[in-house]
Amino acid sequence: MDLDWCSNDDTSGILFNDSVITNIKDSTFKNKPSENKLVELTLEGFLNMNIEVSTAQDLLYVFNYLTFISNKIRNIIRNRCSLNLSKIKVVKELSNEKIIYSELIQYLNKIYDSTNNIKKYFNSKYKKEFIFENIKNTGKLFKTSSYKFCTFKDSCKIHKNKNKVCDKNHFVFDMILLDLSNLIESIEIISENDNNNFFHLIDDYVLLYNITNNTVEKYSSYNEKDINENLVFIDKNTVYKCFDVISYVFNRMYEEAYLFLNYNIFSELINMN
Ligand SMILES: [Zn+2]
Repeated sequence: MDLDWCSNDDTSGILFNDSVITNIKDSTFKNKPSENKLVELTLEGFLNMNIEVSTAQDLLYVFNYLTFISNKIRNIIRNRCSLNLSKIKVVKELSNEKIIYSELIQYLNKIYDSTNNIKKYFNSKYKKEFIFENIKNTGKLFKTSSYKFCTFKDSCKIHKNKNKVCDKNHFVFDMILLDLSNLIESIEIISENDNNNFFHLIDDYVLLYNITNNTVEKYSSYNEKDINENLVFIDKNTVYKCFDVISYVFNRMYEEAYLFLNYNIFSELINMN
């Protein structure tokens, strides 16, 4: 089955198998760093994670943590649900773990920095040119790239021959970094006047982004405001998808890196001796 995610392509039919992410158990994410001791991966521990890499095991450890943490944050946000009981809004945290705005930004920045740091160990060979959009002016908040990962694993010719290319995705660090920076910027834009806006959005408030003056208006229901061309409705599902995509991409890239690094298989795409 094809498990690719193409968030920009509305006609692609099956987009994404959600179970890819939800089936990940925390216990899967234990790996040996160079000190050779098992380290439990935790939300809090991620902020203290050493992102410096000197061995293949270190690289897998950092990559593994990125996969774990992106999935963890995705689950915390998805498990926060709100129940509308007449006019009283009851917000229920289904997960034991909570996260506040400043922590969310801190985690996402650390994910970005760690990803940027391990990027140098991989050749992406991805030729697509990136167009950096000013999302503040376009209002295209929480936008993600389209991904279509290669399913040939170590048999893809791109791993054996540096002159070969593959039209599917392998180590797409530039794409995921772009999506991460868009996510961080989008959260910061909607939070400019109120740090709680991101969670208000998740709790089913209506957030409208005004492109002309870059401000966010918050309403408890649609009826309170007529939507005009200057107002962009921020869809909670787009926000969910953004976290889904990031978690999914780390998962796919980690799987591929693990195959080569853990079993010591040579790849032209990995620069780790
Ligand atoms: Zn390939």
